[in-house]
Amino acid sequence: MDCQTLISYLSDYLDNNLSAELTAEAREHLATCRNCHVVLDTTQQTIRLYRQRGQRQGLPPRRHAALFDQLAQALASRPAEDCE
Ligand SMILES: [Zn+2]
Repeated sequence: MDCQTLISYLSDYLDNNLSAELTAEAREHLATCRNCHVVLDTTQQTIRLYRQRGQRQGLPPRRHAALFDQLAQALASRPAEDCE
């Protein structure tokens, strides 16, 4: 799995919507790729913050999509030196 694929699956990964096979591939990538690990951490923190603010349903769908757009762009503009 490469970084772009990981990012495109990240939302489903966090929601446990991936197949066992894809989850294993995502975990494997996250274990070896520092960039994606940071993105995952940031995303989880953002989602946690929303939940702490009393929005029990987590991120509103539109905000959710915008967040992942931002993450994908941030990752795309980064040097990929740490990525396999
Ligand atoms: Zn990566």
